[in-house]
Amino acid sequence: MFFEDEPLRVNLRGSRRPVTLRVSMEKVVIIGSGCAGWTAALYTARANLAPLVLSGRQPGGLLTTTSLVENFPGFPEGVDGYELMARMQKQAERFGARSRFAVVETADFSRRPFALTADGERIEAQAVIIATGASHKHLGVPGERALETKGVTYCATCDGALPVFRQQPLVVVGGGDSACEEALYLTRFGSEIFLVHRRDRLRASKIMADRALAHPKIKPVWNSVVTEVLDVSQDRVTGVRLKNLQTGAETVLACAGVFVAIGHSPCTEIFKGQVEMDAQGYILPKQGTMTSVPGVFVAGDCADRVYRQAVTAAGMGCAAAIDAERFLAAQNQ
Ligand code: NAP
Repeated sequence: MFFEDEPLRVNLRGSRRPVTLRVSMEKVVIIGSGCAGWTAALYTARANLAPLVLSGRQPGGLLTTTSLVENFPGFPEGVDGYELMARMQKQAERFGARSRFAVVETADFSRRPFALTADGERIEAQAVIIATGASHKHLGVPGERALETKGVTYCATCDGALPVFRQQPLVVVGGGDSACEEALYLTRFGSEIFLVHRRDRLRASKIMADRALAHPKIKPVWNSVVTEVLDVSQDRVTGVRLKNLQTGAETVLACAGVFVAIGHSPCTEIFKGQVEMDAQGYILPKQGTMTSVPGVFVAGDCADRVYRQAVTAAGMGCAAAIDAERFLAAQNQ
């Protein structure tokens, strides 16, 4: 994906010598470049607001880590997640959306224009749409962090084809759609895929659960949790320690990779204390997509603990754009 950078340069005079301060003044800044962000960009661009999209660490968002997206309307054969996001970006840019590869570090919504800092630069905006999405949850067990990139991963599409996983037993942790999708994807590479789930029933949608459980390479390990990833002393994954939650029995399952797919947490840390959110950090819209701060809107997974689909995120992005446009029109901006 491509990013352009056109900040305004303002010359200020300090006490001794002139200072050049990089300041951008924007009508609408969209924080995040997933389905919600790019759809908000498309709609605000078509409203002639020339939105600026700040991409975040993962341009295109979580969908770029998926292989085939089969449930986005309009693609009967499915569409590659990365391609879908690249197309959304292209469509929004066609109408004047601008984007920058930047991570927002601070947000000040206490007065308007709102102030953000991204990569050391101050960006001011009349309206902000938060579309920062969610990031992968971690197991929090010994060995997980130490062996990240050494066999522990959170993305089968990104890492599944690595030589270290080929024709090896692999473990996927989780019981949702992501875990089933990861397990199915890994059947192309691993010798057998152990789907470790803490209950005796998958949470995934029926079609995904049926597909995963019917695959001859996928072996469910029910009622079990990973208590440790082995083996830190060898600096690579050799197995997982499992605990059966019903019997309390502990076993070691040999594997070359651990793919963690246990859900997501909203990426809202920098907005704490600025907009209202629940105990888990999901932003709570007050009126439509408007947050507790008039002029700050929210869309997508960072505000959605229920649906969390690409198409619902896109829908919220559209709604946030329309709400932002109306807000600015009411302020004559
Ligand atoms: P999810 O639906 O929240 O599922 C997370 C799974 O991980 C659950 O089975 C949960 O167990 C388990 N889990 C959570 N914390 C755990 C822990 N600490 N240790 C062990 N297991 C733990 O998350 P997701 O699968 O990432 O899906 C998120 C959303 O994206 C969903 O709405 C899903 O439908 C959507 N999605 C759709 C597709 C698709 O349609 N192709 C693909 C991927 C994702 P419990 O079941 O016991 O709670």
